[in-house]
Amino acid sequence: MSQRRCCKLTVKRALVCVILLTMPVRSVASPQASRQAPGSRLTDNARVRAALDWFTPNISWVNEQQARVTEIPAPSFQEGQRAAAVKAMLSEAGLASHIDKTGNVIGELPGVDDKELVVVAAHLDTVFPPGTDVKVHRDGSRMAAPGISDNGSGIAALLAMARAVQFAHLKPQRTVLFVADVGEEGEGNLRGMRAIVDAYRSKLKAVVVLDGSGTDHVTTKALASRRLEALITGPGGHSWSDFGMPNPINALVRGSVRFINTKVPTTPRTTFNIGQIEGGTSVNSIPYEARMKVDIRSENEEELARLESALRECIVAGVRDEMDSARDRSKGKLEWKVELLGSRPGGDLSADSPLLAALRAADESVGNQSRIERSSTDANIPLSLGIDAISIGAGGSGGGAHSLLEWYDSAGREMGLKRALLTVLGISGVAEEKSR
Ligand SMILES: [Zn+2]
Repeated sequence: MSQRRCCKLTVKRALVCVILLTMPVRSVASPQASRQAPGSRLTDNARVRAALDWFTPNISWVNEQQARVTEIPAPSFQEGQRAAAVKAMLSEAGLASHIDKTGNVIGELPGVDDKELVVVAAHLDTVFPPGTDVKVHRDGSRMAAPGISDNGSGIAALLAMARAVQFAHLKPQRTVLFVADVGEEGEGNLRGMRAIVDAYRSKLKAVVVLDGSGTDHVTTKALASRRLEALITGPGGHSWSDFGMPNPINALVRGSVRFINTKVPTTPRTTFNIGQIEGGTSVNSIPYEARMKVDIRSENEEELARLESALRECIVAGVRDEMDSARDRSKGKLEWKVELLGSRPGGDLSADSPLLAALRAADESVGNQSRIERSSTDANIPLSLGIDAISIGAGGSGGGAHSLLEWYDSAGREMGLKRALLTVLGISGVAEEKSR
């Protein structure tokens, strides 16, 4: 109700205003830009101030949307029901919204210049399998439920920003797409963001990702990772009568012991994890297959490639060792393959990027300080292609991500909402109003 009342006031004020255009921040390196802090200029704009002022009296509405969205299950690859709800909510906020063929929700806020785009995105999916109890339990400003923070808070912020912009009748310079994307988690392999970047690449100037809670960090460095599966197969047989035949599990063990002895550097930080091993059918059978899933990550693409090669070489060596020691090779040999399950490319945002300048200005404007982080997020995709992107928390605080004990506390969330909106507007630019 308070939204409708305030809307009228804004419309009235708009009648006595002329619209001038403020170009988006292009480079902090330019003398002009360095003289003018982009965030402080934004808050000179009455419409921007009206949008920022919308958050505080509407925090309980934002919390409601977060609970509502969180209670709609959305495992990766099954985000449809949640997507439909978010599409309806973005439409209610006055954005022309649709769902693309990948399943992403896209709400468009047309800019003065529709040839350039800024995307603000929050992922829809969760790591929790179908059937997980996602009921939200509340205690004051604290809410608990799987997915409430990651990424209930990001989706809620997306909706709140759309509402605030609608309320203030804000017109950006560059078109802003409000995106709720699919497939960020696990084997979703960033498929939603890949589709968005693919579809809009030629116009896309910047991507702001809202993921989880907090205001303490800005992810500008994309952690490269690969997920691989090694599979070894053989003829299989009886543990007693066929003893001496090559055994796929033996070969996998031989290969994996070699692999875990691989030296990885601490700088650039490089890691590996054998996360799953499967194979065999019974204790008295020589198995016909063995497989393992391995996650490898590095701050450096070359190290990542080196580690992937090492895994392949170790599996080959494990198979060779097992074949060499087999007494009976007459009934067949072992086959192997290593498949890529997923790949998240790396990339870094340049230190003089206008997007980072917009974030820093927003931080200054709301009295926040944030540290640079490297992480694996939706921002990996644009960053790997040289498109400016960051990932930030959506405000408030949270914990227990990816666990059933996940929680979110909305206390102070308005600062995160203002920071996110100022960052997006800082890079999109706004139509500036000036009283006669
Ligand atoms: Zn997330």
